[in-house]
Amino acid sequence: MITGKNYIGNQLKASGSITHKTINPKLNIENSTPFFEATTNEIEEAVQLASSAFKSYRKVSGERRAEFLNAIADEILALDTELIEAYMSESGLPEGRAIGERGRTIFQLRSFADLVSNEDWRENTVDTAIPDRAPLPKEDLRKTLIPLGPVVVFAASNFPLAFSTAGGDTASALASGCPVIVKAHAMHSGTAELVASAIIKAAEKTGMPNGVFSNIMGRGRTVGAALVKHSKVKAVGFTGSIAGGRALFDLAAQRDEPIPVFAEMGSVNPVIVTPDAISARSEQLSTTYAGSITLGTGQFCTNPGLLLTVDGENTKTFINDLATKTIAIDPQCMLHPNIKDGFVKNGADVTAQNGVELIGKIEGDIAANYAASQITSVSGTDFLANPKMHQEVFGPFSLVVRSKDEDQLLEIINGLEGQLTGTIIAEDNDNINMENLVDALQDRVGRIIFNGVPTGVEVCPSMQHGGPYPASTDSRFTAVGTDSIKRWVRPFSYQSFPNGLLPKGLKH
Ligand code: NAP
Repeated sequence: MITGKNYIGNQLKASGSITHKTINPKLNIENSTPFFEATTNEIEEAVQLASSAFKSYRKVSGERRAEFLNAIADEILALDTELIEAYMSESGLPEGRAIGERGRTIFQLRSFADLVSNEDWRENTVDTAIPDRAPLPKEDLRKTLIPLGPVVVFAASNFPLAFSTAGGDTASALASGCPVIVKAHAMHSGTAELVASAIIKAAEKTGMPNGVFSNIMGRGRTVGAALVKHSKVKAVGFTGSIAGGRALFDLAAQRDEPIPVFAEMGSVNPVIVTPDAISARSEQLSTTYAGSITLGTGQFCTNPGLLLTVDGENTKTFINDLATKTIAIDPQCMLHPNIKDGFVKNGADVTAQNGVELIGKIEGDIAANYAASQITSVSGTDFLANPKMHQEVFGPFSLVVRSKDEDQLLEIINGLEGQLTGTIIAEDNDNINMENLVDALQDRVGRIIFNGVPTGVEVCPSMQHGGPYPASTDSRFTAVGTDSIKRWVRPFSYQSFPNGLLPKGLKH
């Protein structure tokens, strides 16, 4: 049952007076439950509990942490239709997506359970002593990875389950041995509370310390900022806007003890479509990309917001086809009114820039909170002259840039901000110099997709979901896949330790 209260450790609390309600974007009405913003005392209590829980949780064996993660997955499944209904009423996303995202969330939890059920993920290394080495003896050294401490996770609006309360950040942090305090996304507070109840039940059933998990509600600038500034918080995970992620990153850097903020922020995910590919399969490419641009109402961090090509004889037909097919797809609901407002404002902003042509846009009356998909186009020269065109328009929007030649295409790629993905659509024996293209793109992105679409992020060890700033605040890490656990740990060496004091996996 949704109560509107915060989980401060395993207790439901609501001693404050500031409340908010979530919105059903499809019906454009408020949902009924008021949610209570956590008070300063409640935030303090959650952090103190997390800090004391860390003392024992860091020592809980991998097998028992795996039990905990699997129990969270079981408890989420046990929420059944109550969870799916809350998800749909707070996000406007359809039932199929809700069930699919729940499946992904369960898969992530179980993947981390598998990962930590043995010690391999710690990349332990052992250098045994060489007492008679000349001129100096070599000491016994053993290195492992240890958890950082309490972690604050900001839930993402565009994945109410898989990147939220028990999403990838929480699962990886709990797997590593770090307690987690989630700052719930205000727009899906009910979904957040239900999932938090599943985590608390799982923690109690598997004997985890009180404080290993808390769920805090309220505004980012007050409760979110207070959590990031708290001296007992040791790292932050975030998915959302560049403005939000950067504000939290700066706050964390200004602390007496700066801490890492792993923020995954805006991305326009450039797609390079060569003239040869357009000549060979314009019809198929325009259909595929109309689908990718509108998938999930364009609200994926890997949405293709920028298509780059070299102007050729078939470019115009391709762009027109892409626009026709994109706007032929029925308008869909956006996650919440603020996202819709941002979509309208940022789309209008880009379209108003010098040289930008609106090729196609859904016109006429559409329901409140639904998005009017649009395709725009601009010359490479105008694009290079105006950094405003690089900005993310979160939603079903794409800008097609027509470079005058291959050199200009490379100049455009070199000037892009950091991105999560880049895509190359090309033919075998394409006339474009592929090595130059890959080199330029590799410098700007975390993953290159060849002859595919950027939407769809597989959860597996080889996935890299993170790229040069501003796609991520630290491009050395991924936010998806089992390697994401490395954000919450630090290397630690034991020198000349007696066997009895060494952790499992490092003993002689
Ligand atoms: P957001 O506005 O960045 O909010 C995300 C979370 O951060 C919320 O909990 C928010 O708190 C908090 N927050 C925001 N600004 C803050 C600040 N200055 N100090 C402390 N906390 C702050 O993102 P959103 O609501 O999810 O979506 C808005 C935009 O983010 C979208 O239009 C899109 O551009 C971008 N987005 C990008 C991705 C991606 O992966 N690239 C994913 C989702 C969204 P409040 O509760 O106070 O809002």
